[in-house]
Amino acid sequence: MCGCQKETCIVIGYCGEGSFQLPAGQKPDKANLRKQWCQALGIGRKDILAGEKELRIAYWHFPEERFRHFDEKVSAWKLKPTAKWVDNEKQEWLGAVPIRNLDEFVSSYLSARHEPTFRLL
Ligand SMILES: [Zn+2]
Repeated sequence: MCGCQKETCIVIGYCGEGSFQLPAGQKPDKANLRKQWCQALGIGRKDILAGEKELRIAYWHFPEERFRHFDEKVSAWKLKPTAKWVDNEKQEWLGAVPIRNLDEFVSSYLSARHEPTFRLL
């Protein structure tokens, strides 16, 4: 299950295709990126913001071009870019952040039922 606890995510259910760990650690780059993820998701809980609680965020929160092909060596999805990122609304972020509109994901998923839901790069 996605760690954001949004109603839409609970309805979508288990994210078998992957999720991303909320940036962990107290180094400024990680702490600041974590804040931006929380901001993008509307999460205001202090323990989460402080990195005291581990959270995994479902892949569907991220714009499609932000995740890379499956890496067989580490068996994990990765985000790109890992540095500065500007979204469609010209807002600048420290890296890829989970800002994708969930309703958009749900409708694109349903309309593309017989096609892959992601592209392998
Ligand atoms: Zn979620």
